Amino acid sequence: MYKASLAKLHEEMRRCCRCLEAGYPITPGAIFSGRPSARVMVVGQAPGVREGKTGLPFSGPAGKRLFQWLRQAGWQEDDFRASQYITAITKCYPGKGNGRGDRVPTAAERKLCVPFLARELDIIRPQLIIPVGRVAIDHFLGRGKLADLIGNVFERDGRLLLPLPHPSGADLWLNRPKSQALIRAALDHLRRLKQEMAL
Ligand code: SF4
Repeated sequence: MYKASLAKLHEEMRRCCRCLEAGYPITPGAIFSGRPSARVMVVGQAPGVREGKTGLPFSGPAGKRLFQWLRQAGWQEDDFRASQYITAITKCYPGKGNGRGDRVPTAAERKLCVPFLARELDIIRPQLIIPVGRVAIDHFLGRGKLADLIGNVFERDGRLLLPLPHPSGADLWLNRPKSQALIRAALDHLRRLKQEMAL
């Protein structure tokens, strides 16, 4: 039943053009991957241009760093992709921003897309959510400084949340020495949870 519900949801997400119809310059084509049996869900901000070409979430430069982190926690990329679930707050490529990197989806676009995320969470019921980047972290944990959030594990509605910063080089926060220590602490927690929960 879960499998059928998820397949139906995926079909709806793939056909969705809400943002385009509302006038936002996205490239339609929702990007996500994973199984209904996943116990870990990674939630990013939005796919990048590379993901639009491959159809695979986190398959560009940011994904390279994310999977390096996950490897440090004990997951090989192929295993993680095959057994867990990866999605985003908004699921279509938002286009280039004014400065470096891609456009950050507006609050209105996020509002249009998050009902899909709510349904993914409802069907999959992951035990551990990894929000990646400020937009996803804000969604699950509310606004706060990355320095106060990264390196900690939170519990919300019976689920664990372990935030990670956005792995794209566009985020300068990543390169500060203090940030590196917080990321190491986050990955230590992730490795421990993987072992304790047999994820
Ligand atoms: S970002 Fe989400 S709501 Fe907007 S068109 Fe894509 S799937 Fe639909």
